[in-house]
Amino acid sequence: MKTTVKSLEGSRQGLFIDGAFVAPSSGLYVPSYDPTTAEPWYEFAQGDAADVDSAVRSAKAAFVNPAWRRMTQTERGKLVRRLGELVLENADELAMIECRDNGKLLKEMRAQMRAIPDSYLYFAGMADKLLGETIPVNKLDSLNFNLREPLGVIGMIIPWNSPMMMLTGTLAPCLAIGNTIVVKPSEHATASSLALAELAIEAGIPPGVINVVSGDGATTGEALTRHPGITKYVFTGSTFTGRKIAGNAAHNLVPCQMELGGKSPHVIFSDVDIDRAVNGVVSGVFAAAGQTCVAGSRCFVEQPIYNRFVEALVERTRRIKVGHPQVEVTDIGPIALASQLAKVEDYVGSGVREGAKVAIGGRKPQNGELARGWYFEPTVLVEARNDMRFMREEIFGPVVGIVPFKTEEEMIELANDTEYGLASGIWTKDIDRAMRFARNIDAGTVWINTYRSAAYMSANGGMKNSGYGRRGGFEVMREFSRLKNVLIDYSGAMQDPFVIRLR
Ligand code: NDP
Repeated sequence: MKTTVKSLEGSRQGLFIDGAFVAPSSGLYVPSYDPTTAEPWYEFAQGDAADVDSAVRSAKAAFVNPAWRRMTQTERGKLVRRLGELVLENADELAMIECRDNGKLLKEMRAQMRAIPDSYLYFAGMADKLLGETIPVNKLDSLNFNLREPLGVIGMIIPWNSPMMMLTGTLAPCLAIGNTIVVKPSEHATASSLALAELAIEAGIPPGVINVVSGDGATTGEALTRHPGITKYVFTGSTFTGRKIAGNAAHNLVPCQMELGGKSPHVIFSDVDIDRAVNGVVSGVFAAAGQTCVAGSRCFVEQPIYNRFVEALVERTRRIKVGHPQVEVTDIGPIALASQLAKVEDYVGSGVREGAKVAIGGRKPQNGELARGWYFEPTVLVEARNDMRFMREEIFGPVVGIVPFKTEEEMIELANDTEYGLASGIWTKDIDRAMRFARNIDAGTVWINTYRSAAYMSANGGMKNSGYGRRGGFEVMREFSRLKNVLIDYSGAMQDPFVIRLR
């Protein structure tokens, strides 16, 4: 892999089209910032409509090129597996790239880069399991079947939080199926997508199968979502942007898969081990500085343990170490962008103005190095109500609001009283209650006595304004392939078309 932290430092990165780095047609480059210092550390290319067009052309040509189209499934699977192996071989370098770009913890990224190859391995194994089906029809001497085929060129728009992981979730299955891809990474975390495209060439994946057009959402993203050459879009990001993308795609009658925002409920019943549940809540909302779509940001606690739970949560939160993401003992690094930090501060302020109380956190750390970067203390807001603005809108930061409840019915009503439906969690020893929750909650994922433990083998996705479509397992293979119906008549005779036989 040629793209390394060292090669990136102070450099200009081109677009990755047709297997090689190229300069953007506008000649424009934009700085990428290191969130720990708020200083630029390299420049990426600002792609425009002309660059998007050449990336889509490259992907379209690769789609029909026999080097990819006529490759056997087994061979394609081997290349997908090889790409995963290369991610593993370069895991530490890729981890450092992510860490510099978006401030994610180095130790977390190292673990993530070691887990991501499993996903490639899993989908590599699916390349030759994309089954069609035969269908009995009322026609003797005929064979009627559905072929399952790749879709074409997939447009992927990914966010800045864990771009490698977000990309892998759909890129690995799309490759295994035989699609080709144009990726637009976030302008805030571009480097890892470029490095991955480069690794794909090293793995033997033909040029043009993966193209990366960097640039901002308003220019590059818009151009990609208006391009008539795309067969399906994958988008991960805010509900606001998701609506725009779905609108553009609808104009070209192109479907989308949308993983959007969340305001996930995390429910704690009195029968649980409080320390375990506290760890679950902390992991659900403070890990990755709360910059995860599944963050359990609304916490509902059964009345009898409310005070004890809040006390334990505050005590646990006090022990969380906010610090530089490359330091081993750090638990929470910075927020990835200045605008995101301002948003987090604004939500905490609005919560306080509406009557919530800061039990701990609520501000930027004041000391030296940390005061300089985009850090924010993990924050617990008590005396919160479900109708406060910070409890209704996605914050994408380390902020949780705690609300007591008395009955199961009241809790379900509160938990479902949100425009979102991405994830949910419940802590209880009562399996009947847990299963009632699983049935009644409007969320794509339900975690029982755990949180934030997504798996690429299971179907993940949202309900309501959290989006539609599923990633993971066979479901994602179905979503990025299509059925074509074929009927063979082997009777050897074609009936006179004007003789109608009544049955
Ligand atoms: P966005 O939804 O704006 O960005 C996600 C991706 O969409 C980025 O690649 C972005 O590009 C791109 N994009 C933005 N505008 C357009 C457009 N008009 N057409 C096509 N692509 C576009 O999220 P933000 O980064 O602005 O974050 C805002 C909020 O979104 C966060 O606070 C959080 O609430 C939510 N979010 C949710 C995520 C999730 O995992 N569900 C992930 C990220 C954010 P670029 O960044 O270059 O502008």
